[in-house]
Amino acid sequence: MNLELSEEQEAVRQLAKDFVAREIAPHVVEWDRAENVDKSIVKKLGSLGFLGLTVPEEYGGSGGDHLAYCLVTEELGRGDSSVRGIVSVSLGLVAKTIAAWGDEAQKRHWLPKLTAGEAIGCFGLTEPGTGSDAGNLTTKAVRDGDSYVINGSKMFITNGTWADVVLLFARTDDTPGHKGISAFLLPTDTPGLSRRTIHGKLGLRGQATAEVVLEGVRAPASTLMGPQGKGFSIAMSALAKGRMSVAAGCVGIAQAALDAAVGYAGEREQFGKSIASYQLVQELISDIAVDVDAARLLTWRVADLVDRGKPFVTAASKAKLFASEAAVRAANNALQVFGGYGYIDEYPVGKLLRDARVMTLYEGTSQIQKLIIGRALTGVSAF
Ligand SMILES: Cc1cc2nc3c(=O)[nH]c(=O)nc-3n(C[C@H](O)[C@H](O)[C@H](O)COP(=O)(O)OP(=O)(O)OC[C@H]3O[C@@H](n4cnc5c(N)ncnc54)[C@H](O)[C@@H]3O)c2cc1C
Repeated sequence: MNLELSEEQEAVRQLAKDFVAREIAPHVVEWDRAENVDKSIVKKLGSLGFLGLTVPEEYGGSGGDHLAYCLVTEELGRGDSSVRGIVSVSLGLVAKTIAAWGDEAQKRHWLPKLTAGEAIGCFGLTEPGTGSDAGNLTTKAVRDGDSYVINGSKMFITNGTWADVVLLFARTDDTPGHKGISAFLLPTDTPGLSRRTIHGKLGLRGQATAEVVLEGVRAPASTLMGPQGKGFSIAMSALAKGRMSVAAGCVGIAQAALDAAVGYAGEREQFGKSIASYQLVQELISDIAVDVDAARLLTWRVADLVDRGKPFVTAASKAKLFASEAAVRAANNALQVFGGYGYIDEYPVGKLLRDARVMTLYEGTSQIQKLIIGRALTGVSAF
């Protein structure tokens, strides 16, 4: 693997850096306090091609490789994880999955809108009773003539109240476990679908996280995506690549923590000297720096494997596991460098810690990543 970025990759990274400085950084505190990112950011992300990375150009995508996607995701994560999550879900979990599994009509209908930021996607897998154990989900889709009637509810859905389309996973037959699950591409204005914003999150406060309820929703058979009964495989293939995106976002959080800690340590004086001169403060900073490098390299390895068409699922779990735990450690260490000021939301590090905390939970908790890695190493599945 060549660790030197190409000119194109450097250019897209710089574009993302400039975008974050111009369109995100000035609003981060305000969006966090208001629990609402300005939705106009979505079209701006689309106009720069950030919502179409790796999607084929014939469907409105902006092409590019997965390393470029990780670079942009890292920069967005450095700026605001609430914004990064919009891209990781609408592009990473929804548009890319349509590109991989959708039929021609579904691709032509949804991809140009999603990649332009004219439509937003959400990913509906988790339910109130099934999180880690997603293969036992209970939302039901019963075939009735040329449509399915869907009943159930989905929990913690990122982009939930903003989304125009939900990639929904529902049980289409009574086979227990994951074999009876199918995927649907359901417009969110379908009668019977309602959404409720979840307030009071520890972090990612600006993000539109929702509960999605389906009551007698009539979904035309044309909304079925991929073969009936293949929904769980579709969800797992989406999440495997999604974990690379979460890992890249975590690298961004850790990098932001490092930048903030170095900057503050250089300015703050105690006992008549810069706190940067104290070796215990340098230890905090160097621990963050090592976490940043290690998390970034694990993430880039996944991107390289994906781009070369090699198996990447275990590597993605390793990257997500390490980078998410590293982001929490890095933000916590940075907060320590800031002392009491780190505890106030005028300064960036408290938000970094709050936002980092969910990364070890969603798209598979740290425990679930360890089970995936353990299964690959031992050949024995714990699930
Ligand atoms: C802000 C936010 C956004 C989210 N966005 C989405 C989204 O867009 N779409 C979506 O579908 N979901 C989303 N989720 C849901 C997320 O993926 C789940 O919360 C996650 O999978 C964990 O499920 P759970 O919360 O039900 O925890 P549980 O599965 O109940 O886990 C509770 C604890 O038990 C542990 N545990 C569970 N099973 C095992 C086991 N076999 N071995 C060892 N330990 C185990 C877990 O690691 C955890 O520590 C989001 C969640 C949050 C908080």
